Amino acid sequence: MSQATITRRYRFCAAHRLHTDQLSAEENRTTFGKCNNPNGHGHNYVVFVSVRGDIDPITHQVLEVSQLDAAVEQIVVRRFDHQDLNRDPEFAAQTTTGENLVLFLWELLVDQLPSGRLVKVGLIETRDNYFEYSGSAESNRREEGVSHG
Ligand SMILES: [Zn+2]
Repeated sequence: MSQATITRRYRFCAAHRLHTDQLSAEENRTTFGKCNNPNGHGHNYVVFVSVRGDIDPITHQVLEVSQLDAAVEQIVVRRFDHQDLNRDPEFAAQTTTGENLVLFLWELLVDQLPSGRLVKVGLIETRDNYFEYSGSAESNRREEGVSHG
């Protein structure tokens, strides 16, 4: 059976501040620049979710788009839209970099989709910043031993 990949785009707006207690105040300013501003700032994040699968012989689709939309809305958009990412429990001890955020989005979504279906998660943070992660669809980053920054 032929396989194909569909990528859907989602959006949320959120505030954050790049800061880690593992660096001094000066090191934080040097490392994160204006993103370390104590007052925080916001982004219009764009999330790309790529799902692969067999092309269904009847629907000729790899998935029901409405089901993916509902899952992403419930798991990602409702959690982060118009929120301060630094206040999210996941980021209590982690910096809200695009790298950490895209890994966490993967972790949230991989558990909600049938095994092996999630191919890639992409995240646009700014006009010039795009992050992506394609981990193992059967495991999450903790099992892969990716360290938390
Ligand atoms: Zn930022």
